[in-house]
Amino acid sequence: IIRIDSIVKRYGPLTVLDGLSMNVMPGEKLALIGPSGSGKTTILRILMTLESISGGHIEVDGEQLYHMKKGADLVAADERHLHRMRKKIGMVFQHFNLFPHKCVLDNVTLAPMLTQGATRADAEKRAMDLLDMVGMADKAKAVPAQLSGGQKQRVAIARALALSPKIMLFDEVTSALDPELVEEVLNVMRRLAAETDMTMLLVTHEMGFAHDFADRVLFFDRGKIVEEGGPDEIFRNPKQERTQTFLRKII
Ligand code: ATP
Repeated sequence: IIRIDSIVKRYGPLTVLDGLSMNVMPGEKLALIGPSGSGKTTILRILMTLESISGGHIEVDGEQLYHMKKGADLVAADERHLHRMRKKIGMVFQHFNLFPHKCVLDNVTLAPMLTQGATRADAEKRAMDLLDMVGMADKAKAVPAQLSGGQKQRVAIARALALSPKIMLFDEVTSALDPELVEEVLNVMRRLAAETDMTMLLVTHEMGFAHDFADRVLFFDRGKIVEEGGPDEIFRNPKQERTQTFLRKII
């Protein structure tokens, strides 16, 4: 469902992704791990068309993502195309990014009403089902400031799901949370992974969770995939020295 072919991403003189290629099969659950600054978040942002790229090709669900030349870079095509692609992919960010002045329910209904022409009644019904799934139905009328970090993140997950994307991207969704709130968010994601056939890409520093969640683990270092394999293979028996060193430090 995702084909990434020789992507290069530069910020000025800094090459963040250096000829990265990877494919993702429909329904696959992927964990992206690796040192800080290795380009994991950048690849998710590129899939969300939040960036330009300096070279390469990306295809999502059979459609090319970036094909307009802008200076030395390639950007995503026109707005209509962008709009269509963004409905296919949902993203949950490290810092929640909820609309601060809207209540929980409005946070979840806004995009379906604005971008999919859903009626308020339909959007609210679906939102309440999703909020129920993430254990937040009783907070539907609260505003984000009244919620804990874990609660905000569960709302952010419901919001991303409201557009029924085929692909969900999770960018270090627990790293801004107090330790005792991490588990409630991971539980929601575990359930999601088990109960849906959505394709899911997860950037995480929670190695235990990555092991349980992923069908396949990709180890990134300096803008390249150094090693990939099944979770047991990567965590118990990594072959590359860089993977071994990283895992020794972090576990
Ligand atoms: P972390 O685990 O710390 O989030 P990461 O592997 O996700 O790391 P990225 O966030 O993808 O790493 O960042 C890769 C590199 O790109 C870093 O060196 C970062 O400083 C740089 N970078 C990211 N965004 C920008 C930007 N907008 N302008 C310049 N440099 C950037």
